[in-house]
Amino acid sequence: MKILLVEDEPRLNDFICKGLEQQGYTVDAVTTGSEALSLAATESYDLIILDVMLPGLSGFEVLENLKKFEIKVPVIIVSALNSSERVIEGLDKGAIDYIKKPFDFGEFLARVRAVTRKGLSRSFTNFRI
Ligand code: CA
Repeated sequence: MKILLVEDEPRLNDFICKGLEQQGYTVDAVTTGSEALSLAATESYDLIILDVMLPGLSGFEVLENLKKFEIKVPVIIVSALNSSERVIEGLDKGAIDYIKKPFDFGEFLARVRAVTRKGLSRSFTNFRI
């Protein structure tokens, strides 16, 4: 399982990255939306974990670009923007789940497992062909 992590807050990026790696996931960690898009366009990921408030492109703009370039990867948003409007916006823009910061890491991992267990990434990959 290969995960792309997009989080600009260094300590949180490091914390999530190490936590996922301890669970056996392979993680590419970046801090900007443009880095995320270029990696998503060239590498194959099972899941993208995406912050919204990022320098440059926002997480929502990353979602729009993934759709525009037909990059089919399930996305979980992790954001401090916790209003229903933002959650609705994120899901409507194509995210499969939306986790509000601050979050419990055990719950976070369960949500990651839920997405990867469903084989969503596999069907997304097939759809890509
Ligand atoms: Ca941020």
